[in-house]
Amino acid sequence: MSMRRGFALAETDLRSFDRRESAHCHVQKPDRYRLIEALPDDVQRISRGSGVSYIGASFADGCVVQDLSAFDRLLDFDAQSGLLTVEAGARIGDVVRFALAHGWLLPVAPGHPRASVGGCIAADVHGKNPARDGTFRQHVEAIELFDPSSGWLHLDRNHNAERFSACFAGFGIPGLIAQATLRLVPASAGYSLRSVAVASLVEAGEVLLAHAGAPLLYGWHDGRANRFGRGVVRFGLESKEPMTRRSRLAADLPATIKPWPWCAWNRTGIAAMNRLIGHRYGPGQVHVAIESAMFPLNDARAYYAGFGAEGFVEAQWLLPHARYADFVGSLEGEVARQRPRISLIASKLFDGQAQGFGFDGKGIALAIQLPQPKARTQAAFIASLTELALLHGGRPNLIKDSSLQADAAQRGIADFAACRERLRIFDPQGLQGSMLTRRLGL
Ligand SMILES: Cc1cc2nc3c(=O)[nH]c(=O)nc-3n(C[C@H](O)[C@H](O)[C@H](O)COP(=O)(O)OP(=O)(O)OC[C@H]3O[C@@H](n4cnc5c(N)ncnc54)[C@H](O)[C@@H]3O)c2cc1C
Repeated sequence: MSMRRGFALAETDLRSFDRRESAHCHVQKPDRYRLIEALPDDVQRISRGSGVSYIGASFADGCVVQDLSAFDRLLDFDAQSGLLTVEAGARIGDVVRFALAHGWLLPVAPGHPRASVGGCIAADVHGKNPARDGTFRQHVEAIELFDPSSGWLHLDRNHNAERFSACFAGFGIPGLIAQATLRLVPASAGYSLRSVAVASLVEAGEVLLAHAGAPLLYGWHDGRANRFGRGVVRFGLESKEPMTRRSRLAADLPATIKPWPWCAWNRTGIAAMNRLIGHRYGPGQVHVAIESAMFPLNDARAYYAGFGAEGFVEAQWLLPHARYADFVGSLEGEVARQRPRISLIASKLFDGQAQGFGFDGKGIALAIQLPQPKARTQAAFIASLTELALLHGGRPNLIKDSSLQADAAQRGIADFAACRERLRIFDPQGLQGSMLTRRLGL
């Protein structure tokens, strides 16, 4: 622990969840509001929630990391309106559990239950069916924010409305979010979760569109050349029946997962894993607790450990409907030609409006996970995937893909320069920075 300019900073190495970005950092872990204010105004900084972004979004060399994990209290709940005020470090799994225990639901939650509310706002995350529930911004009523030059600010749709909007997919640039008020909706008793087998990603797109109104809707697909796109689309329907037996709830996925000493996702490993997914999530119907339906990745600890120390990349692209089938056809051709190792493809339907740097729009999103992204053949395929997605009008998810470079981000987000300007208005001295903002020039 070192003392710098009057308060305690720990020195530590931080690493992204995909293990591809790391830095030696000075970390401040305030546990009271006056310590948030104590950081001198001119210090380069970045807010950090739980640090479970795939990429280095909440740390960088030379920036003080303000770790908000001690601010994890649920502060106020109005059982009539469903308004819940929480501190920004509160973890989304805890928020979901609290809400469900009171008969309410937070409709949008990302797959990692330890993601913080601040991180979900700053990344404007999506949940299990973005076409129905939108992104996180639709469920936030107000934010309490600290800005080094303006101090404490209350933000909502009527007060400081532009800054309020900029916080979503603002990646910490508009300031440190200390509290947020979330709007919950009444919860059903459980979900009846159905899996439909699909033979291709095009068929998956059709099934997703056919079930656009379901509260849960996503696909898991094989990425191997000979079975490309085969898999299941899972959709959950609200069940009015009370749960008769409690289904087993897995413990929350840890924030950091120790990698195995080798990469398990070679061709044999990927074949075995796809067989397991097919067996476990094959066609049929199950009645499940909402919490386990919201966090299926709690069972995926071995999957992430299996990438080994070299890590992985998750490239996620949103393709407009009109270009989706063409994109999928070209991608399948490229997979047949280059034979990359794809550990998994996930599909989701979107029906929103792209805003700022957020990941939203109308189309189908594919998240493609690849082990050992530095290996020559893997890197070549990732470059082809990026190019193909851009050629087909794809929009990249900036918070996920550590392989994405500034030129690709600028091509994938049409009004990139204007979005950057709109964000930096709130940080004219350029104090807020992370590996993400530096890599992409945000
Ligand atoms: C296994 C896994 C599954 C995932 N599933 C999904 C998914 O389904 N949908 C989806 O959209 N995303 C998903 N993600 C991405 C993840 O939800 C986001 O990256 C989220 O931001 C992580 O939250 P965090 O608290 O760890 O944020 P961090 O990683 O700590 O930070 C992320 C960003 O938020 C900013 N930030 C954090 N806290 C604050 C604050 N208090 N004030 C201001 N800025 C702040 C940081 O500066 C940074 O820019 C997943 C990630 C993993 C690893």
